[in-house]
Amino acid sequence: MKGTLKIATMFKIPVYLHWSFPLIFVYILFIGYQIGAGPMEMSAIAVFVLTVFLCVLMHEYGHALTARRFGVNTRDIILSPIGGVARLERIPERPSEELKVALAGPAVNVVIALLLLPIVYFLRRDGLIYEAKNELEALQNWNNLLPLLLITNIGLVIFNMIPAFPMDGGRVLRSILAMKMERVKATKIAFIIAQVCALGLFIFGLYWPQYVLCFIAVFVVLTSRIEWKSVAREAALKGKTVKDLMQPIQQKLYLDQKIQLAIDLNKIQARNFLVFDREENVRGVLFFQFVNHAQKEKDFEAEVEKYISDTWENLSAHYPIDNAIALFQQKGYAIVPIIENGQLIGQLDMIALNKYVQSI
Ligand SMILES: [Zn+2]
Repeated sequence: MKGTLKIATMFKIPVYLHWSFPLIFVYILFIGYQIGAGPMEMSAIAVFVLTVFLCVLMHEYGHALTARRFGVNTRDIILSPIGGVARLERIPERPSEELKVALAGPAVNVVIALLLLPIVYFLRRDGLIYEAKNELEALQNWNNLLPLLLITNIGLVIFNMIPAFPMDGGRVLRSILAMKMERVKATKIAFIIAQVCALGLFIFGLYWPQYVLCFIAVFVVLTSRIEWKSVAREAALKGKTVKDLMQPIQQKLYLDQKIQLAIDLNKIQARNFLVFDREENVRGVLFFQFVNHAQKEKDFEAEVEKYISDTWENLSAHYPIDNAIALFQQKGYAIVPIIENGQLIGQLDMIALNKYVQSI
């Protein structure tokens, strides 16, 4: 992965650090310098931050290893200064499985907090905890590492369970709703709830004031929308074939025609063309960019043949549309002929396809 550094592979899942991760240490130095911390205090802060990320990493493994139980692999886990993400290859289909995968991350932090609780209790009872005036002062003291870790893990659970994408709580909510209704509808309701939460979080962040919460609120609005759109698209395209979205061949272009004709047609609306020989066989495709190029070069008299490309293949009318989209992206297709029972019955154009996908 670009901009990342592989630091380990555990349980067959590679763990990457995002390039921005070392910025945390720059931040620690900055904070330490501001409060006049010495090397001992600085290292206490650094150890605390590293331990927090270890908890975050274990949280992500909670998701990844639970997903594995349902046959879903995890591509990798990436740690960045704003947290971690386990990139699952797909979301488990069944809502009950998605629910378990979403809950497994925060559950890890609950377990860590429960393990720390008795230790912190005894430390406190024996007067070993330094009662600090604020978090920064507490951070500088080694004895306070465990209590702070306890508070942080509780904080991680609360934060992650906010019922808004991309937090785990958003997935929990969606999967519970999806047990009662269609996944698209469940995602839409979860999306609306996420917006309300984001608004609340934003106002809360303004008045506290903790502006990082406002930043997270904006992030929630953007990512929850992406999640909803992608689920809606997936549902709209499911079961559809190329035949459902193909268009009739409105205008045939022949190899020996002048490119001027394509230029004129392109003026009305940008489009790609199938190019035929006089025996009505498809011989190539004409990208609208090539037509624009010909226009710029004032090459009006050239034959269409000069500008055709062989980046195309016949597609069966029964080919699934989501596979077709992937094929267009992988191979750089702009337009392909659609064949049924050996007959040319239409064309599929990338511009039209994009328009349709965006309209969902
Ligand atoms: Zn999580």
